[in-house]
Amino acid sequence: MSTATDPDAASTDAATTATVLAEAARRRTFAVISHPDAGKSTLTEALALHARVIGQAGAVHGKAGRRGTVSDWMDMEKARGISITSAALQFSYRDTVVNLLDTPGHADFSEDTYRVLTAVDAAVMLIDAAKGLEPQTMKLFAVCKHRGIPVITVINKWDRPGLDALELMDEVQTRTGLTPTPLTWPVGIAGDFRGVLDRTDGSYHRFTRTAGGATVAPEETLSAEAALAREGDVWTTAVEESELLEATGAQHDESTFLAGISTPVLFASAVSNFGVGMLLDVLVEHAPHPTPRPDQKGEPRPLEEPFSAFVFKVQAGMDTAHRDRLAFIRVCSGVFERGMVVTAAASGKPFATKYAQQVFGRERESIDTAYPGDVVGLVNASALSVGESLYSARPVTFPPLDSFAPEHFAVARIADTGKYKQFRRGIGQLDSEGVVQVLVSDRRGDGAPVFAVVGPMQFEVAQHRMETEFGAAITLQHLDYKLARLTDAESAPVLSKARGAEVVQRTNGDLLVLWTDRWAMGSFAQNNPDVTMTPLVAAS
Ligand code: GDP
Repeated sequence: MSTATDPDAASTDAATTATVLAEAARRRTFAVISHPDAGKSTLTEALALHARVIGQAGAVHGKAGRRGTVSDWMDMEKARGISITSAALQFSYRDTVVNLLDTPGHADFSEDTYRVLTAVDAAVMLIDAAKGLEPQTMKLFAVCKHRGIPVITVINKWDRPGLDALELMDEVQTRTGLTPTPLTWPVGIAGDFRGVLDRTDGSYHRFTRTAGGATVAPEETLSAEAALAREGDVWTTAVEESELLEATGAQHDESTFLAGISTPVLFASAVSNFGVGMLLDVLVEHAPHPTPRPDQKGEPRPLEEPFSAFVFKVQAGMDTAHRDRLAFIRVCSGVFERGMVVTAAASGKPFATKYAQQVFGRERESIDTAYPGDVVGLVNASALSVGESLYSARPVTFPPLDSFAPEHFAVARIADTGKYKQFRRGIGQLDSEGVVQVLVSDRRGDGAPVFAVVGPMQFEVAQHRMETEFGAAITLQHLDYKLARLTDAESAPVLSKARGAEVVQRTNGDLLVLWTDRWAMGSFAQNNPDVTMTPLVAAS
């Protein structure tokens, strides 16, 4: 066995450090986010098409009736044509390893999206050129700002009639507070997409339409002179508009981008593969690589330290053929090697990583080695909950993930009392996955927990899974509560007597008070100024 004084061990460590730093430096870990229907699935498919997929090819979810519905693993998802689950797609592009984390499109699952955003280093915000900024776009911009995630903005569907490009930039600036710094500028108005002016060198990237965008779109690069000869006034307009932007200071600046003050903008048509290669280039050249992640005390864990990671997603029953539970971790430091035994920070218990996988949709592949920025799916992870930290050698606990303010509440009751054991197991599982927040009150007992959610569709998922996966059908009785506040043991007795309020407890011990209306809460707070009621992070 090697010891610290062993010169061989020291040189091995130096070699490992160099490898970890080099591997981290060539990683880009990001998520595509958008309001539903802006083209997230289409863009994900297009990105995978442009790159050499390391993990799984074409394994991208789509809408009902479209091809490639691989990650629509649940019947419910298929029926609704939405994607609820998320995992990661890894591919190489140029000399970079790209980790693209999937997020659900529907606003009701925004908690899931927010958790994914804790595991990325950058986000690609997709905006529908005809719709501009939509409600979910605004919320997601706000979350990125809150978390300090740099955002690359992609104006999609430029092949269809839409808003004016300058007006769109103005909208981004005024409504998000971010300075848009277009890297490309469209040649041709929305609906007459001829290509883009590359604002970094003044060249013209002309696109050729391929049938259905099924293959990588041929892209031709022309000089400014050739562009003028080819497109005439349309080119001149693009140049003039670009100059106008320059005069207003809308030039890309790496430091303001990384600080979340500006957002580089690209124009694209994901469905025809226009602008997708350029987006990958921008990710490689401008998006940040993994950096040391601060622990609970705010001290960054250096990348070259021994392995550490945190669980950002737990998922069970992904596939009826694999009835298991997967914990998705993002590696924060060191090298992950399949088979290594790591420690779960909360319990201090060892966890053997014999089955580590790369998962995207239904597709799985064993993963042997992973570096900071990578996502690994750990199989049989029944002991791991969302937010858990894992490490080897030197302990670390990363900050807990935010839990969002629930807005809808329902009491869950077992339909067949003979299934109590299955009921308990199912409830525990859904809670640790974060499918719903499970709240228990003295008033109701733990046989009738309260499900609290951000979006009502989470109820449907929970109900569906309790029945099909755990064999414990439940009924849900919706409660009148609309808001929740964090409180403490001292205030709980006073609050539990208040009219229109109920005190409940989360499994982590947090005490919450639920209120039927803001007015009742406000007047109670006024009359009882000493009572603790802290707002939770708002998800909507
Ligand atoms: P998501 O909900 O954000 O994942 O959106 P999808 O990728 O499912 O796209 C929604 C719809 O917009 C689908 O019908 C796509 O074919 C269409 N779409 C996506 N990108 C483009 C685009 O660049 N141009 C046009 N015209 N349609 C697009």
